[in-house]
Formats: sequence, structure tokens, C-alpha cells
Amino acid sequence: MQSLWNDDEARSYAAQGELGLRVYTSRLLGRDPQLVLHGGGNTSVKIREADFFGHEQNLIYIKGSGWDLATIKIEGFAPTRMEPLLRLSAFDVLSDTDMVTQLRAAMTNPHAPTPSIEAILHAVLPATFVDHTHANAIVALTNNPHGAELVQKTFGSRVLVVPYIMPGFELAKAVADLIKEKSLEGVEGLVLMHHGLFTWGSSARESYERMIQLVTEAEQAAPALAAPEAPPIDDWLGLATLRQSVSQVRGVPVLATLDASPAAVGFSNRPDVERLATQGPLTPDHSIRTKRIPAVIGDAIDASVHAYAAEYEAYFLRHAGPDHTQLFPAPNWSVWPGRGIVSFGPTVKEAGIVADIASHTAATIQIAEALGGWQALPEADIFAIEYWELEQAKLRQQTGAKPTLQGKVALVSGAAAGIGLAIGKVLHEQGAAVVALDINPDVVAAFQGPDQLGLVVDLTNQEAVKNAIIETVRRFGGLDILVSNAGIFTAGANIEDLDDSNWSRSLLLNLTSHEQLLKHCIPFLKKGIDATAIFVGSRNVRAPGAGAASYSCAKAGVTQLTRVAALELAPHNVRVNIIHPDAVFDTKLWTPEALQRSAERYGLTVEQYKKRNLMKCEITSRDIGLMVASMAGPAFAKTTGAQIPVDGGNDRTI
Ligand code: ZN
Repeated sequence: MQSLWNDDEARSYAAQGELGLRVYTSRLLGRDPQLVLHGGGNTSVKIREADFFGHEQNLIYIKGSGWDLATIKIEGFAPTRMEPLLRLSAFDVLSDTDMVTQLRAAMTNPHAPTPSIEAILHAVLPATFVDHTHANAIVALTNNPHGAELVQKTFGSRVLVVPYIMPGFELAKAVADLIKEKSLEGVEGLVLMHHGLFTWGSSARESYERMIQLVTEAEQAAPALAAPEAPPIDDWLGLATLRQSVSQVRGVPVLATLDASPAAVGFSNRPDVERLATQGPLTPDHSIRTKRIPAVIGDAIDASVHAYAAEYEAYFLRHAGPDHTQLFPAPNWSVWPGRGIVSFGPTVKEAGIVADIASHTAATIQIAEALGGWQALPEADIFAIEYWELEQAKLRQQTGAKPTLQGKVALVSGAAAGIGLAIGKVLHEQGAAVVALDINPDVVAAFQGPDQLGLVVDLTNQEAVKNAIIETVRRFGGLDILVSNAGIFTAGANIEDLDDSNWSRSLLLNLTSHEQLLKHCIPFLKKGIDATAIFVGSRNVRAPGAGAASYSCAKAGVTQLTRVAALELAPHNVRVNIIHPDAVFDTKLWTPEALQRSAERYGLTVEQYKKRNLMKCEITSRDIGLMVASMAGPAFAKTTGAQIPVDGGNDRTI
């Protein structure tokens, strides 16, 4: 571990005084995932400053909850009066709810975030700067039957050792008592068993560099470890099955993030993986994201997930008090022998946070095991954190509407422009992770981001189609919504004059490629959540026009394909419907000149031509996207084999 302190960088923060430097070294801690992960850890600085009325007072600026050390700013620190914090530390008992109320009441700025629950502990430590992390090397040392000895051997009298105590008031109280008894002369930090490390100093740099120094020494205490590595076994249908089971048990669709790195697969293959993985987290804090333990997946995937859920419910009953509300019993991550580590979450971001913690957990557990035996906290201590009264209160307050398609995975063909682009964008807006396919490379830039992926695919090449489907499953864990949209307008010609190539090109792209895409998606749709296939047809199917045989016949074929697929897939709970748009002119195909020509052919103005329907309205690509999103959502959950027009009403089809 290296100090990342840089004089030039530090100078730009120093303009804002000690608080500026507090921000700087907090960010340095946040930059290293070996020290803190996703909102873990906290820091503070004690400052004497004048309040609004000009009275000098002692404040502690403490990290606010909801802020991440890696990206914290000055406004992420809560200015809190020292005096009430020190008085609170003299209480014998204090509930967490009362503590948080008093912490907020002690703030000098009511708009600041709520102080970290470790605020009182920071306040009682008699140093200007205090840093706290859950460094992997420290938790490897302390989650161990010989933890206290290992800490003593590594650091001697430079640290005080605190046995595990639940974070919050009780821990602060224990530390206050400890430092009353023991001199802090020559002491640089506190090692909290099964939890992490505190350091302090008179400057931001001193406190930070003591953290780096102590963690480095803890790293050096671990034997050089060659953790096993192995290549993954590909099992895409298994991954979709796992995601489906977890979603069913959780009661909402989730995305699944597969870590098939050699290290993750190596861990999953360890003969002792079940014992190692199912003891508990590195630090209790993690349990809020990861739950206490992952599921270890056996050959029967669905049964493994259900066994996990049954055991979770039993764990809840073993520890729950009368006021506890049970959280969902599905795992947040799983160890899957031969395949790696799979993490779950309703969004890519949430699954990614779990995946980061899981990967550090697997690595650190193996170091602790090599140090003489991985031993996590007893489950009652983890339960106390997972079912913390503050976390339970947050749960009760949760109301916010989540996006309709959150946790769903959609695949849209022909999505570089026009209707397909609009469909992909609306599905994404409504919460789905979207993979967009097109032969036009514009699709890559149009769908970029953690939960969007644009792939260049020739839909007439079956290998390429299969690979795109696998990429979808590899990336997001499964497939729930197929939108088969890709198509070409073939030139208008009467049958007598129709080129063979016009006919065969239309049938190949407008019909056969849809059948092939559906065929290769079906095994995954069967493992989807409220899975559906939606085809894009045309008003032409029910109201054909002269001179469009190649296009209309292909679209009629897709309509029949929809109907047959609806019959075949209903027993598997996969819905299949088709949408018949008409007169969507906001696409690249319709240049102003082409519109003008067509309008003139009917003796209409462009404006009249665009609204040539019963309702006299203009149909946009976005209208089609909105209808497809509805058809993918709960409104259509019990509809299959339907043909839905979006055409403003047409007297030839009504
Ligand atoms: Zn902590």
C-alpha cells in the first residue's frame, strides 16, 4: 500500500484550510478499494470557528451519511457541536434513534447531511483529524481465532485493540472508557476486531499516512498467497435460471452480474468454499448490501436458491424481535462452483456494488484462511446490523415509485434509428437494461452506458445473432423482453414487375431473420421474468396496398409467426404479441422530399398526409416506443397473440 499524498494536489485543497485538506485525504482513502468500498469508512476534523453570531465554538466536521469518501466534498461533512457529542458519550444507554436525533440537533447547519453514526466515537478521540476504514488487510487479521495475537504481534503497543462491539453509541462508549484507562502516548490507532481501523493525527496527512502505514504492515503480516485461479465454464442458460430463481424469491426482477475472472472461478472451485463463503461478511457494514452470506449454488440451481431462502427465514426467526420486519429472503450474491461469483440487484449500479464487495470478500477470506483460519462474527452480531433500527426505519419510509421495467433485460433489433431506436430508448427510460442490435454501426454510440449496449449485428447471420444473445445474458444475466423490429422497405413494384431479389431480400430480412432471432431467444425467454416477445408488423397486414407485395407478405408472415409462437410459448409463460404501426414519418427513410411526393400523389398537403387517419393525429416513433413498453409491462401481463394497431384509427382495419 502506497501513500497517495501529493503536495501539488494537496495545495489546491489547502486553500480551504483544514476542512479542505480533510476533503483531500478522505478522497485519497476513498480511491483505494483495499481500504473502503462504496460508502464505507468515515473521517472527521475538529475545528474551532465562529458561528453565525460571531461566537467561537468547537465543532467537529464529520462525514455525513449517504456520502462516499471517494467523491466527498465540503458539503458532505456535517458541522456538529462538540459539546453535546461529549455529553452524549457520558450516557449509559442511548437508542440509535435518539442518538441520530441528537446528532442532527447538534448540527450548526440544518441543511447538512446526518452525521455518521460513528460521530460520537470521532468526537471522543482527542485528535484533530480522525480516519476510519474497513481495510481488507485489517479485517483479514481480525476475523481470525488468533486475531488479537496477530494484531499484537504486528503492531505491538502502537495500537489499542477493541473487541467487537456494535458500531454506534455502544462502540463510542467503549472507546471513551478505554482511552480513559489507557494512555494514548505512542498510540497511532485503534484496531476494532472484526470491523476495521481508526487512526488519528494532528494534521490530515499524519492521520492518513498512519492509516497507510498500519495497513501496509497488516498486509505484510499475511503470507504471500497464491489464491487458486481457473478458467470459467460457460453456462448461459444456467445463469438465466439462477437470475430467474433469485428474482422469483425476491419478488422483483433483478439483474445478475457474473464475475467469471480466474480469481472468482478459482475461489468458487475451492473444495472448502462452502465453509469459507457462508460464515459472514468481512465487516458488519457489508451485510446491508450483501446480506450476511451468499448462496452456494449446487447442480440444482432453483433448489439451491430456495434452500437459501428457507435458511434465511430460519435465521430471521432465530434472531428477530417483535418489531422486526423480515427483508426479502433471496441472496444478493452467490458462489457458483466452476462458473464464478454472481451478484444481483435491481439496477446495474446496485448489482455492481454487491459485485465489488463480493470480490474483495472472496480475496480477503482466503488471506484470513491462510493466516490461520477465517472466522467471521457470530450471526447474531450480523443480524443486529442487518436489522438495525435505523435501517428498518428507512425501510418503512420507502415509498418511491420504481421504474416499471426496473430489473428487466430487453433486446431490440434494428435499433440504430427510427422506430427501433425509439423503442430501445423508451424501454431504457422505463428502467430496463437494453441491448440494441443493428447492422448500422451508429447503434454503438446510441446505446452506451452501464445498462445499455449497442452491438453491430447482421441479423441474417445466425452465428452473429446467437453471439449477441449470449452477450446479453453474459452482461445482464438473462432476457425478458425481445423486440423484433429490424426491417427494410423494399421498393414498391406491382407483382408482374417484381424483381426476384426484391422479393427474396424482403423475405430474408423482414420475415426469416425474425424467425431466427425468436428461435435463438426462446430458451432464454423461457427463463425470463414475465417474458415477452413483441414483433413490429405493419398496418399493411390488415389493409394492404397495391405495389407492396414483398413487404406486405413478409409482414403478414411475421404476424402469423407471432400467432403460432403465442400458442407454443403460452405454456412457458412467454407472451407473444405484435404491434401494427402506420404512417410513422419521423424516421430517416422519410426525407421532406419523399413526404412531399407522397402527399402530392394523394392530392394532399404534407400536413394532411401525415394525419391521414380517423383521429387526424400524427404518429411518432416515440408513440410506438411507448406502446411497446406498455406491451412489455404489467398492463399486458395477461395478453398473448394480440395484434395492436398504433395508427390513429384506420377505417380499413376497424
Ligand atoms: Zn466502521
